[in-house]
Amino acid sequence: MHVSVSAAGEPRVSSRTTMTTRTSAELLELASKRLYPNYKPAAMMLARGRGAELFDVEGRRWLDLMAGVAVCSVGHAHPKLAAAIGEQAARLMHVSNYFYNEENVLLADELCRLSGLSRAFFCNSGAEANEAMFKLARRYFHAKGLPRTRIIAFHNAFHGRTMGALSMTGTPKYREGFGGVEGVTHVAYGDLAAVKAEMKGDVAAVIVEPVQGEGGVLPAPAGFLEGLRAICDEHGALLLVDEVQTGIGRLGRWFGYQASDTRGEVRPDAISLAKGLAGGFPIGAMLTSEELATALPPGTHGSTFGGNPLACCAARTVLRILDEEGIVASVKAKGERLRAMLLEVVRDLPNVCDGERGEGLLRGLLLKQGYVARDILPKLADAGVLLTAAGDRVLRFTPPLVVTESELAEGVAAVRKVLAGLPPV
Ligand SMILES: *Cc1c(COP(=O)(O)O)cnc(C)c1O
Repeated sequence: MHVSVSAAGEPRVSSRTTMTTRTSAELLELASKRLYPNYKPAAMMLARGRGAELFDVEGRRWLDLMAGVAVCSVGHAHPKLAAAIGEQAARLMHVSNYFYNEENVLLADELCRLSGLSRAFFCNSGAEANEAMFKLARRYFHAKGLPRTRIIAFHNAFHGRTMGALSMTGTPKYREGFGGVEGVTHVAYGDLAAVKAEMKGDVAAVIVEPVQGEGGVLPAPAGFLEGLRAICDEHGALLLVDEVQTGIGRLGRWFGYQASDTRGEVRPDAISLAKGLAGGFPIGAMLTSEELATALPPGTHGSTFGGNPLACCAARTVLRILDEEGIVASVKAKGERLRAMLLEVVRDLPNVCDGERGEGLLRGLLLKQGYVARDILPKLADAGVLLTAAGDRVLRFTPPLVVTESELAEGVAAVRKVLAGLPPV
């Protein structure tokens, strides 16, 4: 690292803060020819970060209030996380699942203790974790000799891009042209009567996000998760909770299904985790109840990289940082501050904004019909703030959980300025 800090606490960026000798423009030119164009990245070449700040090759700064889409939970370049990854890489990176390794076993134990679930399976991403839950549900009933294969999922749900996870994803545009896995039924999020109507003898599981993230930052309506649990119990179906975006402190508690101000804990049969779990190091996990421990016996499912010591060490370090620094407990208050700031913007710009919604540090600013959230992102980046869009007209805030109140204020001020300058629709 070649960053020194001035007396005023500002990072002093030397010309050797990155590995590259190329300019942003040169790298962007190369990217346009060589990267597969399935993404449409902003024309910036990021080179390093610190906390909630990102810097490009030339040292230009952005305030990162998206955190790699709810991934960089402890901020960029956290010294403890960087050191732990470095030390573990120098010790042992990968051994395969033919053998146990300590980091894997201890992470499983820590996640089970935090969640109240019993068993942990590790993979490398959110889609894979949901894929595992899909297979788990089907194999569970298959092993019992029961013909229950159907999965109930929700409109606007996002569960990932692999074929199984995609089939459960509730945005038709993402599925278009790909076909999909048979046997997934989508109903409206929040509509318990619709779930009941579809709850026939062939249903294996219901999969739900505690807050729909990609779909537009929509928290579960009051009573929805409890209602799903009751319907699943009545019909012997499994309740699968996709905590890929909401888990690991994002909502101000470790997991979204846990008790909040408005309801008690809703016990899932299995959950999926990924995004924030290892703070930016790729990892996914499925946690299950003890009852489901026999559903995927040896040979039925697996992952070469899944549970490797390096990823598990990164996740354990993130859990330790979140715990030691009291970060999960701080998310609720920061989320309330962000909510208050966003409500002021909504109040002052009634022609652009329609409202605010979310929980903890997963928050959305809803724009008026006619505005397209993703079209505003480049203007925000020009103003120095990085956000994502969720659904068509929500600006989504998923800052690092270590974000400070003054950083939130700086970001919201920039957003306000950009929104105030938009032409009317
Ligand atoms: C991001 C996300 C996924 C997919 O995770 P990947 O790591 O991109 O595969 C699945 N479910 C939810 C709720 C997500 O937000």
